[in-house]
Amino acid sequence: MIEIGSFMQWVVDRNPYEPEFHQAVHDVAGKVIPFINSRPQYAESRILERLTEPDRILSFRVTWEDDAGRVRINRGYRVQQSNAIGPYKGGLRFDHSVTLSVLKFLAFEQVFKNSLTTLPMGGAKGGSDFHPKGKSEHELMRFCQAFMTELHRHIGAAVDVPAGDIGVGAREIGYLFGQYKRLENQFTGAITGKGAAFGGSLIRTEATGYGCAYFAREMLKARTEDFEGRRCLVSGAGNVAEYAAEKLIQLGAIVLTMSDRTGTLYFPDGLSTEQLAEIIDLKRRASSLDALASGAGVKFLPRSRPWAIPCDAAFPCATQNEIDAADARTLLDNGCFLVAEGANMPATSEAAQIFEDAGILYAPGKAANAGGVAISGLEMTQNAIHLFWTREEVDKRLVEIMGHIHEQCVEYGTKNGCTNYVTGANIGGFVKVADAMLAYGIV
Ligand code: GLU
Repeated sequence: MIEIGSFMQWVVDRNPYEPEFHQAVHDVAGKVIPFINSRPQYAESRILERLTEPDRILSFRVTWEDDAGRVRINRGYRVQQSNAIGPYKGGLRFDHSVTLSVLKFLAFEQVFKNSLTTLPMGGAKGGSDFHPKGKSEHELMRFCQAFMTELHRHIGAAVDVPAGDIGVGAREIGYLFGQYKRLENQFTGAITGKGAAFGGSLIRTEATGYGCAYFAREMLKARTEDFEGRRCLVSGAGNVAEYAAEKLIQLGAIVLTMSDRTGTLYFPDGLSTEQLAEIIDLKRRASSLDALASGAGVKFLPRSRPWAIPCDAAFPCATQNEIDAADARTLLDNGCFLVAEGANMPATSEAAQIFEDAGILYAPGKAANAGGVAISGLEMTQNAIHLFWTREEVDKRLVEIMGHIHEQCVEYGTKNGCTNYVTGANIGGFVKVADAMLAYGIV
């Protein structure tokens, strides 16, 4: 029998000063431990303990030269968490907030998320404390090339397949893949999120946001409801938020907000597709939302997040811990009955518990935002079979995959006719990985 208190103490002792990692493990352990205790083979083989110890952590110096000719030093990482069910797979994050704790939480989450997609992918995450904001195009290119100069020896189509995350989009993936190809002299699917001209998949950019909206639609469908006229709060203004908003509008919802580090744009009558196009264009130019503060039909709330605005549904699509306990209570008090996480771990443990206790439709990121990595998986498939699928084909598969994830949540999370999506996603993601580990014996 595993006991959560002593298990967490063991994790904290082994990984001191890593609060985000502790939080992610705690959230999974709370759901998976009762399940493990009912299946002694998982407990005896210490599957969960083994899963909290990454297969490998790479940490390396990235040296590059800025436009003024100054030598700059950053730290690069790759956390290869588990390849039990497929090659390591997960994004790269470039942001000043990147620490080993953040990447370990993300790599840990990725294992369960990737398993839920039903595709053969292990879990990993990487990145750097390099902050892209304010850097010139040439500086970005030099940094990406320097980063890949070390990383290339640790990745490959059957080994580890990085992709984007915060601060790493199509442009950075182009530079990273260009350098990989130069160093390895191989054109293989060792990175996903590539441009459509060089092995990328259609819909990859939109996939996380679209997938999140599709997943929420499944949750509503299970209650014979839909998005028509539903007021939705979206946080963030990166590609997850942008395409979640786009799909929500297409599905008949009213999107009230988008946000970034400068504040929240509030559209009392709903965001229009024209306004969304303007936001997407603005963000491509690396500008911030306050630039749109004086537009028609919009209010700008400086330095605030969207959660105080009354809504039916919330889509946190910015970053970790962007909803705290007070925000969660405000959302519930204002009538919010659905939360779907486009970002990874956007709710603090306390906030997540408040949503669960309230019994609302609450989908954790590992289920709701798995659409991005799922289409990365389909990019790997297209690369492996040397084919390029149409938009319709990829979108159809995305809808199917989000449906399968929903089914797994229902299968493992339903009790007395009520589905707890947090329980369902954690146990559903765990089972396949655990069974593979059992089959391999003690390795
Ligand atoms: N960074 C994304 C995630 O959090 C995508 C990873 C990938 O495509 O490999 O799932």
